[in-house]
Amino acid sequence: MSETIPAQAPNLVCTTCDRPLVIGPVRASYLGQTFPVDLPHCPGCGFVYVSPDLADGRMLKVEQALEDK
Ligand SMILES: [Zn+2]
Repeated sequence: MSETIPAQAPNLVCTTCDRPLVIGPVRASYLGQTFPVDLPHCPGCGFVYVSPDLADGRMLKVEQALEDK
């Protein structure tokens, strides 16, 4: 369904690093399971942006630790 395509999220900027977020796999845990999900995140500090519709009413927890390369 969702392909892993490196892309920028032009509307999102890390307020800490002042650099644009990129969309890529981060680790999220949901109902006790951990799985990769493509979310905008900062390549500098690892900040992960969780959109309100994704976080709203769910127990989704996104860990800031990115996958090691
Ligand atoms: Zn940052």
